[in-house]
Amino acid sequence: MKNGAPSYEDLLASTRVRERALFLPLRTPNELELQARWFAGDFGKNFVGATGDKIDIVQFGTWNRESGPDFSDAAISVNGSEPLRGCIEIDLVDRNWDLHGHSVNPAFEETVLHVFVDKSDREFFTRTRSNRNVPQIQIDPAILPEAFSANIPLARPGRCQAPLGNLPEERVRSVLNAAAQFRMQKKAARIRAKIDNHGRDEALFQEIAGALGYKENKLPFTLIAQRLSLKSLLGKMADAEAILFGLAGFLESPDLAVYKKSAKNYVRELWDRWWPHRDELQRLILPHKAWRLSGTRPVNHPQRRLAALSILVREWPAFRRSLGKQDAAAVEKFFARVDHPFWKFHYTLTAPASPEAMALVGQSRIADILANVVLPFWREEDVDCWPQYAKLPARLTNRRLETAATRLFGNDPRRREFTKTIAHQQALLQIYEDFCLQDNSDCAHCPFPEQMAKWT
Ligand code: SF4
Repeated sequence: MKNGAPSYEDLLASTRVRERALFLPLRTPNELELQARWFAGDFGKNFVGATGDKIDIVQFGTWNRESGPDFSDAAISVNGSEPLRGCIEIDLVDRNWDLHGHSVNPAFEETVLHVFVDKSDREFFTRTRSNRNVPQIQIDPAILPEAFSANIPLARPGRCQAPLGNLPEERVRSVLNAAAQFRMQKKAARIRAKIDNHGRDEALFQEIAGALGYKENKLPFTLIAQRLSLKSLLGKMADAEAILFGLAGFLESPDLAVYKKSAKNYVRELWDRWWPHRDELQRLILPHKAWRLSGTRPVNHPQRRLAALSILVREWPAFRRSLGKQDAAAVEKFFARVDHPFWKFHYTLTAPASPEAMALVGQSRIADILANVVLPFWREEDVDCWPQYAKLPARLTNRRLETAATRLFGNDPRRREFTKTIAHQQALLQIYEDFCLQDNSDCAHCPFPEQMAKWT
């Protein structure tokens, strides 16, 4: 508490939510309807598991729109235990767990509960790839009322929706600003730790590589930056691009026939420059499975991002100069100018050329680099960059952010206003992680609503 007013750190002094069924049920339950009814709480939240254990749903989690179990960030309690956090999978038949390959799929490793409707003739145990037994419960659609609305929410509004809805706009903004500054400070501390371990340039290079990888390919990009290092690439400048593509495992096919005419010369040159380094770096080449290519927009394909990283290496002194101006516009200008004669017109090494030129690093990626790397880096250098940070417009949203906005603001007409800047988006994510994801009471014991009411 500073000057009698609570700070974001004060808000973090505690915990959790309670939900109500938002809609009424189904006729013949297909799997999607079943999941929707489950999420709405229509089956209840206290069950007896297949082996007689008392299983309580502490948190229904959120709809998982990616591969893996149906709900993530859920929590259950077994025989009154401390909440077990993880995912929940719902199937029509218990043996679908095996038939659908969940038992060997690493994406299902975090599952804490398997829910099913029909039981097979034989005894069936739900096991993960690491052979962990997952508790099961059977649900009965016959108990459900008739009507069903297909309006499936991503998440349900939490208990804090009311106090936030009653707060004047300025006070909501003040809460969000405090949470955003707290998050920026945390990112600055993370960058500080990297600088201590690897030096300023390498830390920046690794952070930007990670940001170019997006959420899906952050890990392989970080691995490449760590394994190659900026210093080694600067020492082999002429071959840097080829080494990046080679280490990524993108130059493993020796058959030029798979490439379109427009790509052959470019690929041949990459190969010629990569082969002299290949033996030495062989052990570090990323396996194909390190990459997540499905669900990635073509324009965001990792090969295009890798080309952008290679240009960053080539232009490193210019990048550092733009950084030295401590002005977001200068850094934005640097990335907007990143250009490549091949990648300007290609989505991948094997795709046909596009008739239209495409930016190598788009506006939303630049904004992400500014918010997650550059401004926290300046913050770490004690530059007062909050005014710049607060102004950055938000260009994108994502599932976690929408979930957070739904939980905190529900249908508050001001919701859009509160998610228009990157700073406020980051603030919502911080609150979601600090309160919603720590909540084990379905909002009931979460301190956030009461803290909100006191916020000045
Ligand atoms: S902040 Fe707390 S009250 Fe609000 S939705 Fe999250 S857990 Fe519920």
